[in-house]
Amino acid sequence: MDEGISERDPFADVACALCGATQAPTQMATANGHPVCLPCLDDLKRETKASQVSSAVIPTAVVGGLIGALLGASVWGGIAIATDVEIGYIAVLVGFLSGVGVKLGARGALGGPLPMVAAACSLVGLVAAKYLIAAHIVTKAVAEQGGPSLGYLDSQVVTIITENFGSLLGIFDILWVVLAVGAAMRVPAGQHVNVQ
Ligand SMILES: [Zn+2]
Repeated sequence: MDEGISERDPFADVACALCGATQAPTQMATANGHPVCLPCLDDLKRETKASQVSSAVIPTAVVGGLIGALLGASVWGGIAIATDVEIGYIAVLVGFLSGVGVKLGARGALGGPLPMVAAACSLVGLVAAKYLIAAHIVTKAVAEQGGPSLGYLDSQVVTIITENFGSLLGIFDILWVVLAVGAAMRVPAGQHVNVQ
């Protein structure tokens, strides 16, 4: 069973990596470095084409991604409000849920513009999480000083936060953006098929 590649008979039949059928090497193609028979190559080409993203799925992919992003943002904000600790690593969850939302919204389509859609949604999720945490702090401070109890989306709260948004950002936010975008883009990424 000592069959090194260098000792292989170049004219011996080769097994297809997909269906296992053995064919003469001249009847084989290569996909992603694996030998495939010609019928399987046709299937592969058809599947690759079928999984290409049609623009019709983009709106639902965006909606799905935003739902996932806001879900992740509320988990992050909820934990920060409940524990008074802002756990930035939850950015990965925001990104991941954005990616899952995009994938579900795109009804199984992968690749194309979908990783970028997921990345954009995850950024919306991060901003939403930041806003949620800031709104909690602002409304709590106003109430503690004997002011009215304001809603998180009260125009006064929105104004205070948007005017001070820059001061809410720290150096670690760059890391959370990288983690979130990376996690988001991985989920709806397409598979690359290199046919030779
Ligand atoms: Zn095959």
